[in-house]
Amino acid sequence: MKAILAGLVEAQRAGGIKTTININGSSYHVTLKVPLALAIGDCEGNDKLCGRYGTHQLGNTLVCRDCNCPTLSSDLPDVVCQPLTTQIIADARFDKAALQSLSHHGIENAFHDVDFGGDAEGIHGCCPPEMLHLYQQGLYKYALESFMNFLTGQQRKALDQLISIISDCCCRQSDRTFPRFRFPRGVSNLTCFTASEQVGLALVCFFSLAMDDFRKLVYLKYNRSDGTWSTDEEGIPKCHEYRKLFEAMLVAEAWINKDSHSKEEVLHHAPAQITKFMHTYKTTVDRTDGHGLKIPKFHQLKHLPRYILKFGVPNNFSTARCESHHITLSKRPAKTAQKRDESFEEQVGERIIDSIVLNRATSSILSTIKALPPVTSDGSISGTRFTILKLEQSSDYCAIQCNAPYAPLPFPISLLNAFASEFEMYFPNHDGITCFTEHHRRDEHDTNYIFRGHPSYRGKPWHDWAYFRWCDDIEGSVTSGENVNQSIISEIPGKIWFFLDARQMTTNEDYDPGLYAVVQSLDRSPFRVQGSNRSNILKVSRLTDTVSYSVCSTESIVDVAFVIPNIGGTNEHYVIDPPSDWSSYFIT
Ligand SMILES: [Zn+2]
Repeated sequence: MKAILAGLVEAQRAGGIKTTININGSSYHVTLKVPLALAIGDCEGNDKLCGRYGTHQLGNTLVCRDCNCPTLSSDLPDVVCQPLTTQIIADARFDKAALQSLSHHGIENAFHDVDFGGDAEGIHGCCPPEMLHLYQQGLYKYALESFMNFLTGQQRKALDQLISIISDCCCRQSDRTFPRFRFPRGVSNLTCFTASEQVGLALVCFFSLAMDDFRKLVYLKYNRSDGTWSTDEEGIPKCHEYRKLFEAMLVAEAWINKDSHSKEEVLHHAPAQITKFMHTYKTTVDRTDGHGLKIPKFHQLKHLPRYILKFGVPNNFSTARCESHHITLSKRPAKTAQKRDESFEEQVGERIIDSIVLNRATSSILSTIKALPPVTSDGSISGTRFTILKLEQSSDYCAIQCNAPYAPLPFPISLLNAFASEFEMYFPNHDGITCFTEHHRRDEHDTNYIFRGHPSYRGKPWHDWAYFRWCDDIEGSVTSGENVNQSIISEIPGKIWFFLDARQMTTNEDYDPGLYAVVQSLDRSPFRVQGSNRSNILKVSRLTDTVSYSVCSTESIVDVAFVIPNIGGTNEHYVIDPPSDWSSYFIT
C-alpha cells in the first residue's frame, strides 16, 4: 500500500503539482493541491484500509473502524460515540493493550503518511459505510428474515401467493419510478435477492400487510382443541409493527438517498430521527442470528449525518457503480474461462480484452446507422389499434384488431356494450369506433410517459392508472349570497380501459373531436387511513362501480399514478405516493 501511495504522498509533500491551465484563452500557472478526500469500499475492504480487526465478534472491544462505540452497546439506539482520529491509532501502535481496546492491528498504516486536507480523522473517518451493504443487503435483509420467521408455514405460503398477485399489479403501472417487483420463485425462502430486489420485497410485504385477505389470515388463530378460529391477540399488534417498520425503512432510505440535503436538516433534525428509526427497527426486528444487532451495519446508521455533512449525498460514496462493474469485469469473463488454476487469470484477462474490442467495434458501427423514422406520424398514439363493432345477429359488441391477425381483444362485454351503444351514434360514417391501447405524453420537464390500456398485453391485462383532472360545477355561493356558479377542480386516479380516437367524430354537443381515455374512476381523491392502519405513503379510495366507465380527454391526464386493489376488500384501492415524495415523511 505504501508503494501504491508513494506518488501521491510525494506530490502532497512537494506542496502540490505545478502546472499551467488555460481558461478562456488565458494561461494560468497554478499548483494543484491533491489531498485525499474519500476511500470507497465495502466493510471488509475499508476495515483493512484502517488496520482494524477483520472480524466483528462480540469479544472485539469496538464495533466500527471509525468510532469508539463499544461492541456490547452498539445495538443501543441512544448510544453516544466519538470518531477515532489518526493520532489515537498512531499513538497506540506499540501498546498491545491499547491496540486491543481499539480493535486495531499494530501496523504502520501507509495512509497515516497521506494528507487528508487537515482532517484529523484521516483514513478512519474517510471510508464511510455505504447504503448498498449497510441498508439494502443489511437492514432490509434482516427485517425480511425476521418477518418471515414471525409467520407460520401456512402464512408464508399464503404470502407467496399474495405477493405473486400483488407483484403482477405492481409491474404494470404508469409510474415507473418504483423498485423492481418481479419475484417469479416466490419470496418466503429469501434466497439470492439482489440489493434492488430487497427494496421491492420490503415494499411488497408492506402492501401485503395492508391487504384484507392477508390480515384475515394472520389475525386468526386455529385452536386445535375445539377446531375453532379465534382472533390472534399477539399477531395483530406485531403485524402493525412490521407494516410500520417496512414503511419507516422505505421513508428513511428515501431521505438518506435524496439528491440534495439541507445542512440545517442534517445537523439539527436527522440525528434524532435516525435514533427514533433505530428504536422502531430494534423493537420490531428481534434478531437472534449472529450477534443480533450488535453489528456495524446497525450502529453506523448514527454516523450517516456526519458523513453527509462531510461528503455530500450518500450516492457520492456508494459502491453500487463499482459493484456493477464486477458483472462485466469478473463474473461474465470468468464464466467462459476454463476453471484451471494455472490458466484462469490469463484467460479471464483475454476475455475482458475481447469484450472491450467487441464493444468498441459495435458502438462505432452503430454510430454510422441513421435513426429510423417514427412508426406513426402522430407520436402520441401507439400499441394495438382496434375497432369496436356490433356482432351480426347479436346485440353484443366486440373489439377487433385493425391489423393481422384481426383477433378479438378480450375486453368485458358489458363494458363494450355500455360504451359502444352510447358512442356509435357519433361515428355514423365509419365501420365501428376506432380505438387504440397506448398513449404517449410529455410533461413540463420533457419526460416521456406511456399509458397503456390493454386487455391482454403479452398474455396479461395491462391497465395503467393516471391522475385525471375533474371539474365539477357547483351552483350557488354561500358567502356572497348571490347565485354564482363555482368550479371545484379535483385530481382523481382512474384505471384506463383503452383509448378512443375521436378525431374523426361527427360534431356533437357532448364531445369535441380529439383523443379520449375510457376510464374507470375512483369515487373521490384518495385519503389517508386513520387509526391503527395509519400510513403516510399509502392512501385509500374506492372504485365507483365494477362496470361503470367515464370518457375523459387525454388532455385531462395530469400525472402518472400507482394504484393496487385491496385484495379481499370490497372495491377498495390503495393509491401509493410516488417514491420521490417519501423522503418528506422522515423529518417530521
Ligand atoms: Zn459510532
